[in-house]
Order: sequence, then C-alpha cells, then structure tokens
Amino acid sequence: MLQLLDLTQSDLRDLMTSWGEPAYRGDQIYTWLHKELVTDLAEMTNLPKALRAKLATETAIDPLELIVQIDSKDKLTRKALFRLKDGNTIEVVLMLYNYRRTVCISTQVGCGMGCTFCATAQGGLARNLCAGEIIAQVHYFERWLRESGGGEGLRIERPATLTNVVVMGMGEPLANYDALLQAIRAIANPKTFELSARSITLSTVGLIPMIDRLTEEDVPVRLAVSLHAPSNRLRNKLVPINNRYPLEALIAACHRYQAQTNRRITFEYALMRGINDAQQQAELLSDLLADINCHVNLIPLNPIPDSPYQPTAEAEAQRFLKILTDAHIPATMRLRRGIEINAGCGQLRQATQQPDMIDLL
Ligand code: SAH
Repeated sequence: MLQLLDLTQSDLRDLMTSWGEPAYRGDQIYTWLHKELVTDLAEMTNLPKALRAKLATETAIDPLELIVQIDSKDKLTRKALFRLKDGNTIEVVLMLYNYRRTVCISTQVGCGMGCTFCATAQGGLARNLCAGEIIAQVHYFERWLRESGGGEGLRIERPATLTNVVVMGMGEPLANYDALLQAIRAIANPKTFELSARSITLSTVGLIPMIDRLTEEDVPVRLAVSLHAPSNRLRNKLVPINNRYPLEALIAACHRYQAQTNRRITFEYALMRGINDAQQQAELLSDLLADINCHVNLIPLNPIPDSPYQPTAEAEAQRFLKILTDAHIPATMRLRRGIEINAGCGQLRQATQQPDMIDLL
C-alpha cells in the first residue's frame, strides 16, 4: 500500500500524472494532508469522487495507530504509544512548558548507537522510520491541539498549535538522514504546516559526516549534540560511537556547522554520579567548549532499569553548573519531565521492552 505521507509534493504531482490526472491534483492532496491534516479521504472535497475511490483502494494516509497515551501527574506531559503497520511500536511525547507546546519525536524503532545509560539503546535497532511515520507523529499532536484543545487531561484551555519540535525521541536522527530531512522539510514548509523551522531542534550522538552534510543543507534546524563526557576516555565508554568520531573531531565539525550557519549549538550532558560530574570534569568541559557559541544543557540522569549509573545529587549538580557559568559557558539545568511515565530523556523504547506498556499490547 502506498503511504501518502511518504510522498513529497512533487512525488504526489508525479503520481497524479501517472494516473492520468492533472498534476495540480497532487498539490490539492498535499494541502489536505500537510495543511489541513486530514486522515480521511472523504474530507478531500475538491477531488473528484472517482479519484478519491482510486486513492482509497491504492493508498493509505495514517501510518500510526494509537495504542494508548498516558499523562504525567502534573498534566504537563503526555506520552503516546503507536503501533506501526509492521507491528513495531514507537513512543512520542508532548510537553507543555509556559507558552511552549513541544512534541518530541522518534526517528527509528530502537537505536543502534549503544549509549550505555540510555533505555532506547538496550533493545538495539529494529529499523528506520519512513518520512511519513516521522511526519505523522507531529501531525498527531498538532491535530489534537487544534481540535480538542482543552478538557482532555492535559492543561490546555483552548485550541492551540505546536510551537516546537524536538527530534530527541527514539533513535539517532542522523542515522536516518534522508527520511528525517524529508520530514523536516514537510513540517517546516511555510505554505502548509507553518511551523517555523527555527523551532525544530535535532539531537545527535555526533555522526560527523552527517553533521557536515547538515551544515550544507538549507534547513534551518537547531543542532544539539549529546556530549556527556569531556574526555575521549570516558566518552568512549558512555557513547561508544566516540571511538569512531572522537571529541576533537566532533567539536571541529560543530565549529564548521557554526561558521556556516551562525547558529548556537546545544550540548547535552547527563550528570551521572561519580562518573562525569567531578569538578575537574566541569573544568575540562569548559575548556573544550571555550570558543564555541553554545549552550550546555545539564540533565540529571533519568533512571532506567538495570543501569549501573545513578543521577548526580542536586547540590553537586548545581556546583557543576556553577563551574561552567563561572567560566562563561552558558548553561542551565534541564527540567526533568514525565519521569514517572517513562517519558523523560533516554527513557523511550519499544512497548515490548517498556515495563508499564507490556500489558497494553
Ligand atoms: N540519538 C540522539 C537523539 C536522542 S535525544 C542523541 O543521542 O542525541 C535523547 C537525549 O537524552 C540524548 O542527549 C541522550 O544522550 C539523553 N539520554 C539518554 N539516556 C538518558 C538518561 N537515562 N537520562 C538523561 N538523558 C539521557
């Protein structure tokens, strides 16, 4: 079955011409899908009935089937579990914060990067998501915000729209580069989705050749890099891909990205007690990032099962933060969100591996 969300606007035009229809039918379908976010062909009222019937037999729109969603106690975070057409499952998170409504999307089923403190890595990589499967995650929450707005659990009073997309869910986004870029182009398209590309942030483990590719693209996404250690010796252990793409080379790629795009880079650093949170490591980190326009996001490690690592205590975390800010490295402590529903950083995974989800399948 042809998945319509996997097709770009020009693919849709080509499809229509190949069916003997005028190309502008492709534009109409694109608008229905990406601007109006319809999932039902019957709503595409300006298409001839015969064309709708053919679309109904040969194509499908929504690649995601909602299994369940859970809200955090404070009603500010919602995690949704979806089943894909092949039976795999993915998790997607909506977060409300002041006037921001942010969706955290996944790019792979599982992840192959093997970071030792991350739950997604524990199950390995099942497969890449298709562009449509990535786009549909954003559409799902945008549609919900637009239509229902308030009254359904989360603290939203009136119909609203998404303000931010973070590509920080399951998977390594830059390991699924082409589908990701297609998805970003679709959700950053000012003619349809209207989400300013400035509000899209992509987080990577540091795949240097792909950062270099991104540097040359005309997509104004923000880059976040999962650093977690200030030395190769430690980073090799925590983020094994560092053995292939070591710190100096990674920082050099960040410089190239910045020189070309002029955008500030975020560095993520999950604080683990007795592992990467010593004063000396904060000083090393300050030196490493001294001449780069950046922001360091410190995250007290989120708990995951069977992990040898513990989060740094609040007082030590604040001390670490102060060393950075004293060295004039802009840094903040990230709010921990949705931890009790396993929706926090590094806690997402396939339902079959998620303790609170297994029974729901
Ligand atoms: N693969 C990409 C995208 C995932 S983003 C990346 O690594 O950047 C998820 C973020 O949460 C990453 O910065 C990741 O390193 C971090 N993370 C993973 N496990 C975590 C944990 N247990 N606690 C806090 N952060 C974690």
